[in-house]
Amino acid sequence: MTQVMQSAFVLLAKLIVWIRPALPTICAAVAWTITAMLILNIVAMVRQGLANVRKMHRIPCASCRYATDSYRLKCSVRPVEAFSEQAIGCHDFATSNFASNDLAPS
Ligand code: SF4
Repeated sequence: MTQVMQSAFVLLAKLIVWIRPALPTICAAVAWTITAMLILNIVAMVRQGLANVRKMHRIPCASCRYATDSYRLKCSVRPVEAFSEQAIGCHDFATSNFASNDLAPS
């Protein structure tokens, strides 16, 4: 068992000596590959975050007249979908900026 380990270490040492001239190039390639992958992951993460923020800003409930301040009943019309992604494009949306004469019959 010891001889096998010694042979393996000798082979490893010979391999390292053999690739020594190319070692700086290999290490630089590995380092730049890791750096590039890190930068690409950060860019992808920022893009995904911006897409999520844009999607959240499309939820209209904050300016809807049917939204309530109660956490028990967030919306009096669609309580399940309120303040979630399902509320994007809600057909019952009505702006909260209405005058009292909006309710008066014309
Ligand atoms: S009616 Fe639609 S837009 Fe208005 S609060 Fe309820 S779910 Fe949101």
